[in-house]
Amino acid sequence: MAKCQTCGGKGSVKCPKCKGAGRHGDGGFIPGGTKQCDNCHGSGVVKCGVCHGKGYV
Ligand SMILES: [Zn+2]
Ligand SMILES: [Zn+2]
Repeated sequence: MAKCQTCGGKGSVKCPKCKGAGRHGDGGFIPGGTKQCDNCHGSGVVKCGVCHGKGYV
């Protein structure tokens, strides 16, 4: 077992869809307001796809 280099052992990575903001809107995704990111559900982070959330590989 080795620590996952992608997430640094945390098991989660910054959401690529909202870039860690947890919502869309400021960048112009949704005209007229913000919307919770449906990829990370507003948390701004998603489970690491390399280690599947375990933090090690
Ligand atoms: Zn997101
Ligand atoms: Zn990982």
